Amino acid sequence: MRPLHALVAVGLAVAIWSQQGAAQPPTASQRATLFEGARLIAGDGLAPIENAAFLVENGRFIRVGRKGEIQAPAGAIRVDLTGKTVIPALIDGHSHIGYMKHLTSGAQNYTRENILDHMRRFAYFGIAASQSMGSDFGELPFQLRDETAAGKYPDAARFFTAGRGLAPLVEISADNMRQAAFPITTVAGARASVQELAPRKVKLIKTWVDDRGGAIRPLSPELYRAIFDEAHRNNLRVAVHATDLAQAKELLRAGIDVFAHMISDVDDELIDLFKQHPKTVILSALGGPRRVIFAPWLNPVHPLIRETVLPEQIARLQRRIPLTDSAQLATSAASWERLARGVAKLSAAGIKIGVGTDGGGQQGDQFLGWTMHTELENLAAAGMTPAQVIVAATRTTAEILGIDDLGMVAVGKSADFVVLDANPLDDITNSRKISQVYLRGVAIDRAQLRAGFMSMAAAN
Ligand SMILES: [Zn+2]
Repeated sequence: MRPLHALVAVGLAVAIWSQQGAAQPPTASQRATLFEGARLIAGDGLAPIENAAFLVENGRFIRVGRKGEIQAPAGAIRVDLTGKTVIPALIDGHSHIGYMKHLTSGAQNYTRENILDHMRRFAYFGIAASQSMGSDFGELPFQLRDETAAGKYPDAARFFTAGRGLAPLVEISADNMRQAAFPITTVAGARASVQELAPRKVKLIKTWVDDRGGAIRPLSPELYRAIFDEAHRNNLRVAVHATDLAQAKELLRAGIDVFAHMISDVDDELIDLFKQHPKTVILSALGGPRRVIFAPWLNPVHPLIRETVLPEQIARLQRRIPLTDSAQLATSAASWERLARGVAKLSAAGIKIGVGTDGGGQQGDQFLGWTMHTELENLAAAGMTPAQVIVAATRTTAEILGIDDLGMVAVGKSADFVVLDANPLDDITNSRKISQVYLRGVAIDRAQLRAGFMSMAAAN
């Protein structure tokens, strides 16, 4: 009876469209779809809804509740998700898009095709949006930001850009990602650079305040204070690469909005300063320090890596990490433990922590998309509960980036969600057991994406 009913329903619907004179039947994204039976982790931090139901229409969540409470409208598609777990699509607050390509990394790879490949990789891994942090240049990032936000590429994550970052001259070189940055040497120049970015409607201004272990003189307080002031005058927020504890305290006093990385150490004074500046938030970006000591996913190679990255690139990373030199291992383990204690301390104090991966950065082979899933595990290893980690990677990061319609499975939000084969509240690494990814209410074709990643990489 079912197929016949469906045919009759389709026939009726077609008749109605013809009467309305519509040239085209509704696309899958416009058609109402009722998803039933999953465990729903909505991204609101509340207990999951078992046996949930949610109705999606025109790419948005129309109703969210329990199975049986929500009726399918006539002509609706029904999707049975019994046994699955649904989470909101993830959001990456810190990445560097467009530079990595197979075994190379550099500005020569910064093309429309490569940026879109990266955004499709994010989508493949269940990520709905990613914020590129200061390494973009030219008109292309703004065009692609607007095009991905408008849904021009249905299987690509939304690309957000800080445009060109603001860096001290000593940090800029042709062979690093700061080649794109505005060189900042004077207060007037700092203000002018912010003024150039403001009309481009960037989500954040990115700057670097780091002495690189004493090797360089970082941006002076006078200059970064000018950046903060000019940004705030233009209703923009500033994300700063800074990891040193003393530096972090000065930045809090100066009015920093977003720490782009976890701070290397956290003490009570820092916690107090965060509390005095309740709008200041921090992105995790723990991947670099942790993976040099802990990378079980490289041996054996996790299927998600094997199906998206070519063998020679995997082999290169296997030669680099995890470290084998015992002195280096001990140093790295100690620095990871300090970072982890910091995460636990900030989290316990209620400081807002979002998730950033630094994926695509130049520490080498930060496999785009995959790094989100290791980052979730890093945060859980540092002591956050899986429920807290999921909120951090969804609602909180959406808030930090000012993306109003992502980060939760809730009425009115864009229907971007991930269907998992196992419950990430039991074990956060279950975030890797991806069954389907939906963007704007439509499942992306992951098999086709996979084929594209491997053939694009092979063409290099
Ligand atoms: Zn970065």
